[in-house]
This record gives sequence, structure tokens and C-alpha cells, in this order.
Amino acid sequence: MVKKIALEEHFLCPEFIDYWNPTVAGMPAAKRENLLNRNTDFGEMRLASMDAAGISRAVLGLAGPGVQQESDVATAIRNAKSGNDFLAKEIQKRPDRYSGFAHLPMQDAKAAANELERCVKDLKFCGAMINGHTLGQYLDHPSLEPFWERANALNTLIYIHPTDPVSAAPVLEGHPGLRRATWEWTFETGSHALRLIFAGVFDRFPKARVGLGHMGETLPYLLWRFDSRTGPEFYDVGLKKPVSHYIKTNIEITTSGMCSAEPLNCAIAALGADRIMFGADYPFEKAEEAGHWLDTEKIDEAVRTDIAYKNAERLLGLKA
Ligand code: ZN
Repeated sequence: MVKKIALEEHFLCPEFIDYWNPTVAGMPAAKRENLLNRNTDFGEMRLASMDAAGISRAVLGLAGPGVQQESDVATAIRNAKSGNDFLAKEIQKRPDRYSGFAHLPMQDAKAAANELERCVKDLKFCGAMINGHTLGQYLDHPSLEPFWERANALNTLIYIHPTDPVSAAPVLEGHPGLRRATWEWTFETGSHALRLIFAGVFDRFPKARVGLGHMGETLPYLLWRFDSRTGPEFYDVGLKKPVSHYIKTNIEITTSGMCSAEPLNCAIAALGADRIMFGADYPFEKAEEAGHWLDTEKIDEAVRTDIAYKNAERLLGLKA
């Protein structure tokens, strides 16, 4: 078993359970209960699952949506802070096994920037996880320039986690099986990342780094098409570089929720193996399955260890 650092690992603390409840509303009660128990446990259950998957270190991020769905700005700022302090305390109990991503109140760019800096510098978190849009506002919104300025200066990873869209796309109507993780979240989250590129965020802040799960939310598969349709011949979007440049330079991806060779090989070919990190998406996916998959997939051994932990050590400053 190769040792691993896992990046998209979730937790909940008491004051965030109400934000989270609607995301599991349709599930059978036993499944909901199981997810809640696993999200709120930092001991035996979580560590046993990590051990079974060969995960030596988990980077914990708050299970969504958190304050991304909080309509009162002062409450969002206060809750994000207390959630981060809660996580820091849990990490202190097991610094050998846990690291953290900050949870940020994106309703207020300056408060989010300050909290990001506090979490990275004081709490030693290795970036932030933002649960998609904040009450319908995406991360390319002009009011968030001060946030990107700080993220650029800190050169720290801003991981965009999937969330439900503001409203369902008409094309999904009548097919509930296509909603959420099947397809809807991929389109929502991939589009969110593309908004940052097309808004020129990475032209203005070239050291800004965005993380995407699920093997890059299909973006690695589409590089050629993005470039071919956004040059002067079709629709000049006014960027300094081709769209693929930003996907290859400013975006880092994880394998979360994707235990399959085809998208992995595409991502390696499109982005390079040095920008891909391991993620299990505990407790929403089976960590053991993800670990076993990476241990046994037919890839070069050096590539396997890069993805398993070496890239995370280098890119996030962690120790496996
Ligand atoms: Zn997740």
C-alpha cells in the first residue's frame, strides 16, 4: 500500500449541521445518520477508514454548504471563524494525521481575505475550501478582487467544492438521476472554474491557485476545444494566454470520487502528473475503494507516488 495524503475529506462541527441537513434531505434516515456520525468523528472511525486506505494524512474541509448559504453577513463571518477554530483544535489533537482547509465567508471579500490569511499563517492551514457559489454569487464577482489579491499574495490553494446550482438547468428536468453528483455538480463546478479564467482573474493574479476535485470536473478533457473556440477566429475573449494555459498553470486537481483509469490518463496527458493529488471524499465516497484503486491502477510507480503524496507535500507544504 502506498502512503497517501488525501485532500477532499469532510467534517462537520455542531453549528454547521443545520446548513448541511438540506443536502441529505432525500436520503434514507440510516444513511443520513451514518454520514453525520462520520462527518463529526475525528477519532476511531475516521482513522480506521484512513488506515484501510493507506491515508497517512487527511486535509479536512467543512462539508458544504456552510456559510456559503448564510444570508446574514456578520453571522457568516462569525461562524466561519468559529468553524476554523474548531478544526484547528481537532488538528492539534492529531497533528500527525490531520491538516485543514479554511472555511470562508465569501459574502465579504475583505473578511474572507483576512480569515484566509489568519488560517494560513496562524492556524497553519494549507489553503481554503469554498463550497461553490455563495448565495448565487460566483468567485469571479468584481467585488471579490481584494480576496484574489490576498490569495495571490499568499499563493495558497483555493479548492472549489461542488454544490447545488442556484436553479436546476432545464435540460435536467424530469431526470432526477442526472442531478447532483451524477452530472449536475460537474457542470456547475467546472463552469465555476471557467468563470474565473474567462473573467481574467489569473491574468490579474497569476499566482492564484485553484483546486478542483473529481479529476478536474471534465476540464482536462476539453483543452483543445476551449482554445480553438476562444481565439480571434471565433470569439476573442481577451485573455493574455489560451484558455488551456490557465487550466495547466493555475488549476490543481484531485482524484476525489473518480476511481477510474480513463480520466486519470487524460488528466496526466493534459495537465501533467505533477498537478494531480489524491482525494477520497470521505465520508461521501469509500476511502478504502479510492485507496485500493490508486494502489493497483496500472501506472508508472513514480507517477503513483507523486499523486499519492509527493505532489501534496510539494504543493501544500505537508508531510505524509
Ligand atoms: Zn467532497
